[in-house]
Amino acid sequence: MPAPIQKLLKIDGSTGEGGGQIIRTALSLSMLTGMPIEIINIRAGRAKPGLMRQHLVCLQASQVISDAAVTGAHLGSTAFSFSPSTIKSGDYTFDIGSAGSTSLVLQTLLPALLFANTDERTKSTVTIKGGTHNPLAPTTDFLTGVFVPALAKLGMQVNIDLQQAGFAPIGGGSIKATIAPFLRRANTPPFKLTERGELVNINLVASVLNLEYDICKRELASAQAALIESGIDKALITTQSHKLHGIGEGNTCYAQVTHTVDEPPTHKTGTQKPHQEMFTLLGEKRSSAENMGSRLAGLVKRYLFNTHALVDEYLTDQLLLPLASSGGGEFSSRMISGHTETQAWLIEQFLPVQIIFDTIDNEKTLVKINA
Ligand code: ATP
Repeated sequence: MPAPIQKLLKIDGSTGEGGGQIIRTALSLSMLTGMPIEIINIRAGRAKPGLMRQHLVCLQASQVISDAAVTGAHLGSTAFSFSPSTIKSGDYTFDIGSAGSTSLVLQTLLPALLFANTDERTKSTVTIKGGTHNPLAPTTDFLTGVFVPALAKLGMQVNIDLQQAGFAPIGGGSIKATIAPFLRRANTPPFKLTERGELVNINLVASVLNLEYDICKRELASAQAALIESGIDKALITTQSHKLHGIGEGNTCYAQVTHTVDEPPTHKTGTQKPHQEMFTLLGEKRSSAENMGSRLAGLVKRYLFNTHALVDEYLTDQLLLPLASSGGGEFSSRMISGHTETQAWLIEQFLPVQIIFDTIDNEKTLVKINA
């Protein structure tokens, strides 16, 4: 019997934040639900509206994995339609052809490949070429150090390898993700990440791609000194530096901050794995290594001292879709951005879920996803 024909969902891409996130999330949800979509006013809120390379590759890659019928797939396009068929797990390679973000392309495909209706043992692999360390997008380090561990708490198994680093303007980076099909077990405890416990560690990491290695040492020394000066115990801070492989040049430094999670007694579900957050800076010609280090310390201090929430701004918007598609849950957030609000609105167009932002005080909001 042919699958029932689903009603077309029309989406105005200028809604809310009006950026690339609407396109990516709509593609993910269309593939998850089978609902055909038409998006108009694409990235209307941006200086250069329409599909840029990264967005176009998201659309084309989604078409490949879901055997979709598509119109309007070209650079600069301000409207497209997308009607998915069956999701096929498999081994895929996509090349953005610019320094566009590989992470954002991967995040578009992940939900569909996690839920692909195949044998539990059939893993998919996705190799994506382009930028791995982009401004205004998760870096590969953020994916492996924060996003993947958060998915693991939901029982989703994803592994991501940085094969080659790629920075703007040249790109030339590559990541490879291995994705195991996800099956939600009936006895899975509800996802709950609300109460911040003890600070376990601040890992400061600086890396260079074909630049002076000394930059790393200076960034780390400056970040560490600023954190110690603010009263953080030196024994909680570790440092690492790396030489990245790839073409072009680049520098990144980040702080991975780990806390234990304190569940309130009524919801005790055994010991919770610790929670990781990450704050990232990309080197700029105008900014000295010392300045980068102290700015990085500033991001860490804002999270440590100005909030008692566990989840910071970026992971907040990135967690909504995985949670909404796997039974819901609850977490505390430092900040509800325009991205997060737009993401919540869009998810509610596709899935029978309710996403509530419950402001506790100006330092913490509880995000509740009732599925
Ligand atoms: P546009 O060009 O239209 O703005 P875009 O395709 O570049 O769109 P956005 O809509 O801005 O993308 O979405 C950016 C995504 O990157 C969001 O999910 C946000 O959480 C994430 N992000 C941005 N900065 C960081 C960061 N420093 N660390 C981790 N994630 C980040």
